[in-house]
Amino acid sequence: MSESGSKLTELSSLGEFGLIEYLTKNIPIVNKSTVKGIGDDAAVLKPTPGSQVLVSKDLLIEGVHFDLMYMPLKHLGYKAAVVNFSDIAAMNGIPKQIVVGISVSSKYTVEALDEIYAGIKKACAVYKVDFVGGDTTSSVSGLFISVTVIGEVKKDKITYRSGAGVNDLICVSGDLGAAYMGLLILEREKKAFQANPDLKPDLSDHDYILQRQLKPEARTDIVTLFSDEKIVPTSMIDISDGLASETLHICKASDKGCLIYEEKIPIDQDTYETAKEFGIVPTVAALNGGEDYELLFTIKQSDYDKIKDSQDVTVIGYITEKTEGEKLVTTDNHLFDLKAQGWDALKKRDLNKLTSNKKKS
Ligand code: ADP
Ligand code: MG
Repeated sequence: MSESGSKLTELSSLGEFGLIEYLTKNIPIVNKSTVKGIGDDAAVLKPTPGSQVLVSKDLLIEGVHFDLMYMPLKHLGYKAAVVNFSDIAAMNGIPKQIVVGISVSSKYTVEALDEIYAGIKKACAVYKVDFVGGDTTSSVSGLFISVTVIGEVKKDKITYRSGAGVNDLICVSGDLGAAYMGLLILEREKKAFQANPDLKPDLSDHDYILQRQLKPEARTDIVTLFSDEKIVPTSMIDISDGLASETLHICKASDKGCLIYEEKIPIDQDTYETAKEFGIVPTVAALNGGEDYELLFTIKQSDYDKIKDSQDVTVIGYITEKTEGEKLVTTDNHLFDLKAQGWDALKKRDLNKLTSNKKKS
């Protein structure tokens, strides 16, 4: 938290209007489609001619979706915005505006909210999104952040989950499983700290996976790549609940089957080694770990040449007839049904392991 300075300001000292004014001063508008931002009863938007409007919302609740013991407030604000941008990217769209609802208890200070807003504003600056409104209320306990994002996409580029065709290539951006390994590292250090508050957290050598957990990015750059290469994916989804679950969503919505090759699943070296250290099969982390916010999409085989040189895209399998089912070919050449273990269940299991495992010295 930002509470390094000695003087903290109680929320009540500003009052609701004072607080809103304080948090929202100097918010810039960069998009043509924003006619009026914060300051009236509603924002006014004017979608780009020829575009359709995308709307999505995510609600984050303290203790359920984030843990302030290791989540810096600025990162929380950043992540709350970015996970919404990711949903727009998953429709092949570009995020343009957000509105933010925030509900806080009196244990929070003006400085704490300022940090959260710094994160939200930073995300808006990085992704060129206008912050155009919100609402502020008090809560009985804890913090709730709800972000609604508005995006745009040309009608002929909208990408649903439902468009995958037989023999289309299944692709993912970036690498998978890292955010989950970052979470396990943070949970391990939290437990160690709770057992012995004198222990310094040992987060060394894990910059990448920690960043993947604490400060995820939305792959709007892949949407730009599609646009540059004149590709319209046949289906797409963002990976928030693990590769297995999202692949099954695409198969179900498209009424198709799939074949995924375990050996093709992109996994970063640090993710791989950390998984091994925790006694987790790295591909299990990639298949079932959440919050990577990469894109999973299918393209026609004829588009393969356009993506084959991209460092950011990996082909991991292809779409089959529904009757073939959803299958995973393991590295040792066995065929399994692709199952979504559900990342909540996985988390519970692995977190239990953390308590029983001795922390390595
Ligand atoms: P109302 O009473 O009509 O809901 P508010 O006083 O809540 O109006 O809001 C005034 C202006 O401040 C509006 O433009 C609203 O979108 C904006 N606003 C309120 N709360 C927030 C917030 N937490 N973040 C950003 N903008 C906010
Ligand atoms: Mg209001």
